[in-house]
Amino acid sequence: MGRGLLLVLSGPSGVGKGTVRKHIFDHYNNDFDYSISMTTRDKREGEVEGQDYYFRSREAFEQLIESGGLLEYAEYVGNYYGTPLEYVNETLEAGRDVFLEIEVQGALKVRNKMPEAIFIFLSPPNLGELENRITGRGTDSSDMIKKRMKKAVDELKLIQYYDYVVENDDVDKAAQKIRHIIESEHLKVSRNLGAYTKIIEEMN
Ligand code: ADP
Ligand code: 5GP
Repeated sequence: MGRGLLLVLSGPSGVGKGTVRKHIFDHYNNDFDYSISMTTRDKREGEVEGQDYYFRSREAFEQLIESGGLLEYAEYVGNYYGTPLEYVNETLEAGRDVFLEIEVQGALKVRNKMPEAIFIFLSPPNLGELENRITGRGTDSSDMIKKRMKKAVDELKLIQYYDYVVENDDVDKAAQKIRHIIESEHLKVSRNLGAYTKIIEEMN
């Protein structure tokens, strides 16, 4: 059994990463596990500790940065967000895939540390629709919406660092495309060479 694949879903805030990720986990039997992130932002209505995020103080988060306990982290519109390293490593070592849903700066850090990961950029149909979605979510002040939109334009410029781009026009279609990408990655010859080399050796 080989090491699992690290799957990174990223893209601008409000594009629908959380919605598409939940859809994938709620509607399909997946062979991968979701890495729950840590954040210093306040809990939104309906969010559950240890399910949506690990909600922590800035002090606790900074301690974890110091001790090297995060695979990546980013400060995003005033709060920290990060990926606990231990869970990712243990799950990959056990041969299972790990799915990260993170913003763009963090995804680029993962790309530097683990270039073998699969990077998928979720894109909005257009910027007007992105603003509608952030506004429609009803969780951000108008000042925060402006900040998130400004950031989104910078983030779109980084699309070149990704392996795949999936437009989120329809949640189910985007989810299906992401599942197809993951399935194709598993079929790559380079990932299966070990097993076939063994068969050939046995036949010789
Ligand atoms: P992100 O996790 O990228 O910040 P969310 O998943 O919170 O984004 O989605 C932002 C808003 O857009 C939510 O209100 C969500 O219901 C809506 N949304 C997500 N995907 C779509 C879609 N394909 N079409 C229309 N609205 C969507
Ligand atoms: P939100 O406040 O809307 O839940 O998240 C804000 C942004 O942070 C989203 O783009 C979300 O994908 C991203 N995010 C969530 N978890 C992490 C993480 O562990 N690391 C990084 N870098 N970004 C994250």
